[in-house]
This record gives sequence, C-alpha cells and structure tokens, in this order.
Amino acid sequence: MIFAALTIFPELFNDFKKYGIIGRAVKNNIIKIKTYNIKNFAKGKHKITDDRPYGGGYGMVMKPEPLAEGIRAAKKDLKTAKTILLTPQGKPFNQKTAIMLSAEKEIIFVCGRYEGVDERIYSDFIDEELSIGDFVLTGGETPVMAVIDALTRLLPESLGCKNSANNDTFSDNLIEYAHYTRPETFEGKKAPDILLSGNHKAIENWRLENALKRTFLKRYDLLEKRSFSDKEIKILKNWQADIQKLINAGSA
Ligand code: SAM
Repeated sequence: MIFAALTIFPELFNDFKKYGIIGRAVKNNIIKIKTYNIKNFAKGKHKITDDRPYGGGYGMVMKPEPLAEGIRAAKKDLKTAKTILLTPQGKPFNQKTAIMLSAEKEIIFVCGRYEGVDERIYSDFIDEELSIGDFVLTGGETPVMAVIDALTRLLPESLGCKNSANNDTFSDNLIEYAHYTRPETFEGKKAPDILLSGNHKAIENWRLENALKRTFLKRYDLLEKRSFSDKEIKILKNWQADIQKLINAGSA
C-alpha cells in the first residue's frame, strides 16, 4: 500500500518510517510512505504557504495554490488514490473506517497547519475529511501517522501473527481480553491460573468472557451495537443468574 502525505514538515515522518511494525513494513515493501513538501509547490522566493484570513481575525490560513499543485503532483504519481484531508471537522476515524481504507492501494493525505486550509480546496481536491478525535492539534502530521499506523497493522503480513489484528479491541465491537506475561507473580499479583494451564479451549473461553466483562465495564455502548453468539448469550445468562443470586442473598 502506498501512502503519500502533503505536509510543510516532511521531516516529521523520518523517524515514523524507521521503527517498529511500520519500519518493518517499509523495509519489507508492504507499505511505502512518500512525503510531498507543500513549500516546494509555493511560488516566489520565500515559498510562502500561508496568508492572513480574508475578513480579518486571528491565525493564518493555508494558501490554496501550493496545496492544489501539491495534490496534483501526488495524483500524477498515485493515479488511483483518493485524497483525504485530516481535520477536526471531519468524519470520526475509527476501526471500521480503518478496515475499509486498508483495502485501498494508495492514499494521499493532506496535513493542515495554522487555522486550516482555504475553503476552495475542498470541492475539487478533497475526497474525504477525517478527524482522529474531538480535540484540536497543531497540525495534521500526527493524525496522518495515526491513520497510517492503524491501516498498516491491518495489512496481511505486517504483523508477525496474522490473527493478531482480528482480536484487537473494536474489531468485533469488543474490547480485547487482558494480557499477562512473565513473571508469573508480579508484586503479589498472580497471572490467572487458566492462562498457565495449557488448556487451549479453556483459555479461549476465559478470554471471550474476559473480553465481554471488560467491554461491559468500560464500553457498554459497544455491546449495545453488536449481536451475540450462542456462546456469548450463555455467558451473559450465567452472569444474570449470578447477579440474581447476589440480589436474593442481599435482600434476604
Ligand atoms: N481552526 C481549525 C478548526 O477549528 O477546525 C483547526 C486547525 S488545527 C489548529 C490545524 C490542523 O491540524 C488542521 O488543519 C488539521 O489538519 C490538523 N488537526 C488538528 N486536530 C485534528 C484532529 N482532531 N483530527 C485531524 N486533524 C487535526
């Protein structure tokens, strides 16, 4: 998959491309991350990419011409790519969107800065707007890295273990089960015996129940959005019975 990022700070991507799973995916040609410096598309000696807003007010606005030329240049290289602008005003980015976008062959991202981009860029140059959350950052580079990161781990071959992304939180509107590793006992807290038992079926059952429990406690809204398997309904009914027992005992 090829990612292109239009930015005034391409250097910010240098380290991002080097380390961890992203670094390995770049090295193994699973992904390519190209950057286009918007300043290179600006006219004049000073390569200015921003200007004061018409109508007055605070901040600066990204000029449309360098952005338009930059996007055109990226589109020449990545002919089938859609162009996505990162903006806090965009559609909330989530795992479902990540799964959909991971099917693309190439994507062009536009990183905003200052107060954002000139409005006239939207209609002809931007296919989609994405937000990584209801907060405002200083630039689109970290949001682009977050999106590239989420997409890359969904690509077959990018994670060491193929099933790893399938179990991730949100993949099935469930929060992932709890993880434990060595030592067996840490500061008096022992890892659950069942995980040390070697009984794969029992471990699988424990993990499903643990994922349901964590989702119930931390993100009840996710459970409201999903349907349950027979196995999950059985677990919920057991809880119901346990809770009923507690109520009966408490009211006796
Ligand atoms: N004045 C803009 C507004 O109120 O919508 C915010 C501009 S912000 C300071 C500068 C740039 O950071 C944006 O153009 C965008 O590219 C990026 N950015 C900031 N917060 C973001 C978010 N939550 N999701 C995606 N991009 C964001």
